[in-house]
Amino acid sequence: MPYRAPVAEYRFLLDHVVGFPQVAATDRFAEATPDVVAAMLTEAGRVCEEVLSPLQRSGDTQPTRLENGVVRMSPGFGEAYHALADAGFLGVAGPVEHGGLGLPMSVATALNEMMSGSCLASHLTPLMAQGQIEALAHHAPEWMQALYIPKLASGEWSATMNLTEPQAGSDVGALTTRAEPLGDGRYRITGQKIYITGGDNDFAANVSHLVLARLPDGAPGTKGISLFLVPKFLPREDGTPGTPNALRVVGLEHKLGLHASPTCTMSYEGATGWLVGEEHKGMRCMFTMMNNARLGVGMQGIGVAEGAFQHALAYAMERRQGRTPVGDGRGAIVEHADVRRMLATMKAELFAARAIAFACAAAIDMETATADPAWAARAALLTPIAKAFGTDTGLKLADTGIQIHGGMGVIEETGAAQYWRDVRVTAIYEGTNGIQAMDLVGRKMADGGEAAQALIDEIEGGTEAARDRLPDLAGPVWQAAETLREATEAVVATTDPTDRFAGSVPYLKGFARVLGAHYHLRAALAEGGTGPRTALAQVYVRRLLPEHAGLLAEARAGGADLYALSDEDLAA
Ligand SMILES: Cc1cc2nc3c(=O)[nH]c(=O)nc-3n(C[C@H](O)[C@H](O)[C@H](O)COP(=O)(O)OP(=O)(O)OC[C@H]3O[C@@H](n4cnc5c(N)ncnc54)[C@H](O)[C@@H]3O)c2cc1C
Repeated sequence: MPYRAPVAEYRFLLDHVVGFPQVAATDRFAEATPDVVAAMLTEAGRVCEEVLSPLQRSGDTQPTRLENGVVRMSPGFGEAYHALADAGFLGVAGPVEHGGLGLPMSVATALNEMMSGSCLASHLTPLMAQGQIEALAHHAPEWMQALYIPKLASGEWSATMNLTEPQAGSDVGALTTRAEPLGDGRYRITGQKIYITGGDNDFAANVSHLVLARLPDGAPGTKGISLFLVPKFLPREDGTPGTPNALRVVGLEHKLGLHASPTCTMSYEGATGWLVGEEHKGMRCMFTMMNNARLGVGMQGIGVAEGAFQHALAYAMERRQGRTPVGDGRGAIVEHADVRRMLATMKAELFAARAIAFACAAAIDMETATADPAWAARAALLTPIAKAFGTDTGLKLADTGIQIHGGMGVIEETGAAQYWRDVRVTAIYEGTNGIQAMDLVGRKMADGGEAAQALIDEIEGGTEAARDRLPDLAGPVWQAAETLREATEAVVATTDPTDRFAGSVPYLKGFARVLGAHYHLRAALAEGGTGPRTALAQVYVRRLLPEHAGLLAEARAGGADLYALSDEDLAA
């Protein structure tokens, strides 16, 4: 079934729900006029519908291969990468002086969703390029920016991020890859990295690896890590790829999904690299790329949610079973109450997750444009929620999509199961969703909950505006915001880290539930309190919002009961 890019939905969200007009009104993003944004989204939608969507199934059945140390891409994926580059997808938010378009992250976020929804496997390498461009623009010396960013933005070269090692997954500080200074500004990099997305390919003239490694005087843990740029081919004076660097792909993973995306084991064998940022400050630099990628991965979940929803809806409109009390009585399954419940809640979930992610992108844009610490705090707070809730929503909707297909859901030819197989890893990579939740209740609450409470104030302010026109929505949203406020105070007051972390995932999910209701309310208000957006908001508030109470109660439950069960008890 072909993918349809939801361009009109993005424009509604940007204009009426997440405050994009405020972003476009800044000097920094003055170029992002409604016409420019509309043209960019429309053209991007066309590329995703026409170029990427046909690759979704073929990439699944014709995986990437490793041939004599070279990764061979699935047919069509190299051409697609260049089509994406030509359409400006890679350098969309990159610096104009180095070949980027300088557009807001809000626009990049819509592009990332469309790439993911039309063919998730085709989105991973573009996301690496976007993130690396941002990391280099913030932390690399000028010569490195001038050499690498234009080539990454044009798609001539591709990019990777190398954190993970066999013993260093979530615990990045355990990495053992070594960097030795050569005394002339270059470093020798030695070690093994695993699970490296796009570690090699046969469509880019060079691959620019960003690699975390430890210098001889680097302290143990994350504080002693530095970041290096290690190209596949060492650039000549004129910038063209020269001698092969001392690195290679030693294996490709066979995965549950994303068969067209090469996941590589990389061996760095005294490879030549250059420092990015300051010595021992590598995690700070890598976080620029990781934060970019976290929102991008959230969009992967949301893109898949959109694709799975479109797929399920089309099937439900056609498949006939039994007789129904409504419609023509001939029983297209969309008319059955339970199938309708699944479809309506899918749509309501999708709106909530998308609105949260776009609100995060708008906050990043306002931070970039104004350097206001309050916007920085808002962006930081929303990033783990956008990543975890976006990917959880992708998984949940892909699962519901299979259910709507009945038996055909598990038959590969329908494509319903592929959404689930492909999206499953998004809740794991780029920091597992558990790690995102710990970040939310840990680092993001180090301000005593100030940024969270400011957002809750905003949610409650929104309900005031809706109290007269939409009392049946405003009342429950206000009540939920109060429950979230109390839970936030309780989280901040919890000093035992085990108790705090035991409640982190339910807290994040409860927060997202309430935030989703806030944006639904805004959408309902924007259409004047009557119409399909108001009806969808009713579905969300009646059927999904109530879950927040249970989640936020669990968030406050502490960890004692979990540890009352010993390891032996678990195994018994
Ligand atoms: C397809 C794919 C592509 C990838 N691409 C890249 C890439 O391009 N570059 C790269 O560097 N890495 C990449 N990764 C690696 C990915 O980021 C890691 O898999 C992820 O960070 C989790 O690490 P791990 O697999 O070692 O799991 P572990 O860290 O072993 O985690 C196992 C479980 O324990 C939990 N856990 C671990 N530590 C804690 C803690 N302190 N508190 C609470 N819970 C904890 C986790 O949440 C998880 O549920 C990729 C992985 C995959 C599968």
